[in-house]
Amino acid sequence: MTNEYQIRVVPEVAAQEDRLKAYLAEEQGFDVRTIYGVRILKRSIDARQRQIYVNLKVRVYINEQPHDDEYQHTDYPNVEGRPQVIVVGAGPGGLFAALRLIELGLRPIVLERGKDVHERKKDLANITKTQKVDPESNYCFGEGGAGAYSDGKLYTRSKKRGNTDKILNVFCQHGASTAILSDAHPHIGTDRLPKVIEAMRNTIINCGGEVHFQTRMTRLILEGNTLVGCIADKEYRGPVILATGHSARDVYRYLAEAKIEIEAKGIAVGVRLEHPSQLIDQIQYHSKQGRGRYLPAAEYSMVTQVEGRGVYSFCMCPGGFVIPAATDKEQIVVNGMSPASRGTAWSNSGMVVEIQPFDDLTISQFDDLEPIPDSLKVMHFQEELERMCWQQGNMRQTAPAQRMSDFVNGKLSYDLPKSSYAPGLISSPLHFWLPKMVSHRLQEGFRTFGRNAHGFLTNEAVLIAVETRTSSPVRIVRDRETLQHVRIQGLFPCGEGAGYAGGIVSAGVDGERCAEMCAAYLQK
Ligand SMILES: Cc1cc2nc3c(=O)[nH]c(=O)nc-3n(C[C@H](O)[C@H](O)[C@H](O)COP(=O)(O)OP(=O)(O)OC[C@H]3O[C@@H](n4cnc5c(N)ncnc54)[C@H](O)[C@@H]3O)c2cc1C
Repeated sequence: MTNEYQIRVVPEVAAQEDRLKAYLAEEQGFDVRTIYGVRILKRSIDARQRQIYVNLKVRVYINEQPHDDEYQHTDYPNVEGRPQVIVVGAGPGGLFAALRLIELGLRPIVLERGKDVHERKKDLANITKTQKVDPESNYCFGEGGAGAYSDGKLYTRSKKRGNTDKILNVFCQHGASTAILSDAHPHIGTDRLPKVIEAMRNTIINCGGEVHFQTRMTRLILEGNTLVGCIADKEYRGPVILATGHSARDVYRYLAEAKIEIEAKGIAVGVRLEHPSQLIDQIQYHSKQGRGRYLPAAEYSMVTQVEGRGVYSFCMCPGGFVIPAATDKEQIVVNGMSPASRGTAWSNSGMVVEIQPFDDLTISQFDDLEPIPDSLKVMHFQEELERMCWQQGNMRQTAPAQRMSDFVNGKLSYDLPKSSYAPGLISSPLHFWLPKMVSHRLQEGFRTFGRNAHGFLTNEAVLIAVETRTSSPVRIVRDRETLQHVRIQGLFPCGEGAGYAGGIVSAGVDGERCAEMCAAYLQK
């Protein structure tokens, strides 16, 4: 017999199966020896009060062994000899598109400009060693895309866009912990993601698909308004799912030049904010002891409005690292990632301000010299800000930084706290050189966050510049129903780079939808 219960228990009970069994036996009046197993179906932490509770939905197996599958299995048939579809980009959008194509009996040919997920790791280490970024292999480019060396957070606010549960189940089938199916805020961790991504690649290849690394798409092949393929190291024929992510600026430039309809879209820019993780734990768990043995590193989510614009925390990485996420030589871009344990001494998040295409986006006095197409002006603003940051960082990957209270009070920091950012920090008056529409709103936002969470606004925390790659600065305009480009048949702009996703799961969901629409297009 199996029974399901919703329970609310203290963290030490939630974390230990024996304690959980004893609790359930007592609450439900069973003999504990009859409980053969307990499966956690949903788990969330309630940290609103001083006493922290864990809410659980559990399935209890009474006098029988757990026998049901822990995740839903997807069948991937052999697709050798089937019609082929070109998938450009092996981020979550491209990988989930390729797997869904296989399910639908189509043969994916995946083209990826970067290296495989393991080779890529060496180039990431080189950023710190040499202070230089490889433009084809970095934290955004390479197998797994921007999501590979990340926190691997798998929650998305959007439930509308498709089947997010399917994405989580496919991750489990490829080696992710099944805890991601029950946690309210699931995450995989940067140390575990590469194996999962490699397993997804192996499924594609074992089923008869192809994956080509260090193969950059440079051009699309059009016959009138129909796309028949693309050019990389050679010509590849077939409809194209274009999943090149938010950092492929060469792709946006090519599309603008080729007069393929794209438009500027709003983004958010700001800084990475890094606190000692113990301080965040103390604040969020209302205890001097912090998280203790049974709770994970604490998360936070902050949002306010300053002068009509959202100021908010973004992509929080508890117990993580701040990383150099630039994709070209003369840029500094920061972002965050965490291992599965979320066990480092720091917790960071992006702290960003909304920017709209109609804002005054002039940064450099030379901006007027070269006309920038309207569709690329937000991207140009991003680029200028990243270049300015690199100049402030002594033209290396050492990132300009300022203590948090000093930033709010407009004071230079004479020294900086220890940080997880491996290439190093350099003290810099961010309040002075960041665009006023950003720095002023961040200062106000931080005052509000400090009032709401006592201890949050502190000089123990450091701001690291500059966070710009929060989403795509360009939308590749597509039809809402067919998901094809508004004018070009056979072109399926996909994922974050197309402007239709913002995170690993939503990019995966969009990849699946593009594959389905591409199959419908081929059937016609
Ligand atoms: C450091 C970091 C941490 C993050 N953490 C999280 C997180 O914890 N949770 C979350 O939900 N989201 C996170 N994100 C965001 C998330 O990674 C992206 O939303 C997601 O990866 C977008 O998927 P995508 O497939 O659309 O694009 P991408 O992942 O950007 O993949 C695009 C791929 O296309 C390739 N490509 C580009 N141009 C070409 C070309 N011309 N030819 C061939 N290949 C090309 C790139 O090399 C890349 O591999 C993080 C991002 C970063 C940078």
